[in-house]
Amino acid sequence: MSSLISMIENGREAGRKTVPGPILLLGAPGVGKGTQAKELVKLWGIPQISTGDLLRANVARGTELGKVAKEIMGRGDLVPDTLVNEMVAVRLQQPDTVNGFILDGFPRTLNQAGWLDGRLSGQSESLPVVAVSIQVDYNQLLRRITGRRNCPVCQTIYNVYMKPSAVDGICDVEGAALVQRADDTEEAFAERMRVYAAQTAPVVDHYRGLGRFAEVDGDRAIDVVAAGIVAAVERLRAE
Ligand code: AMP
Repeated sequence: MSSLISMIENGREAGRKTVPGPILLLGAPGVGKGTQAKELVKLWGIPQISTGDLLRANVARGTELGKVAKEIMGRGDLVPDTLVNEMVAVRLQQPDTVNGFILDGFPRTLNQAGWLDGRLSGQSESLPVVAVSIQVDYNQLLRRITGRRNCPVCQTIYNVYMKPSAVDGICDVEGAALVQRADDTEEAFAERMRVYAAQTAPVVDHYRGLGRFAEVDGDRAIDVVAAGIVAAVERLRAE
């Protein structure tokens, strides 16, 4: 049995039920925030709110926001705070967020963090935020990001170094030509890491200072990392 499943089963036997509340997944590009958010969605039944996914959907639909965001995202820079905060505000109004949500890729600046803190503190029924920072070393991130390819039809994610398709460049499921995100090139990755160090690392320090903060080693199997996040959230919620 995987460690995540056994952890859930043990929790059920003990009659333990975590109300997850608002959870922030922090960490550099490629640490696995999106992958982990999807694991936690399965476990807790609360939504993943990925600002990267929401922005890419806007780009694909050709909205006004998407038109502004497209070029900024392609070079690995950050979309302006006011636009991203507004997009998150709209998403947080959806009723599926009532028992909590997993924010993946937000906040990425101190301005965004201040906006989020203010918004959540205005909701007296909301639990305080729990922040989990996922750590993976630079060279591993470089391989994860620059090796990433996805199928434009079924969205399966491959990695040319770590999880290659059977035929180079072709999806095993759909037979479609695999694509690389514009911001997954080595050049854009370097810019995203520079932006992370300058703008997002202070956000991690901000939540570390507030308490209800944990660091998890992201360089392990997906379910082991997920189990580490669940354990950290349960511990911090029980404090
Ligand atoms: P991600 O999928 O989280 O790696 O995000 C991809 C890109 O979307 C980033 O490199 C930024 O250009 C943009 N983006 C995502 N989230 C934010 C955010 N919170 N603030 C500003 N830009 C963002």
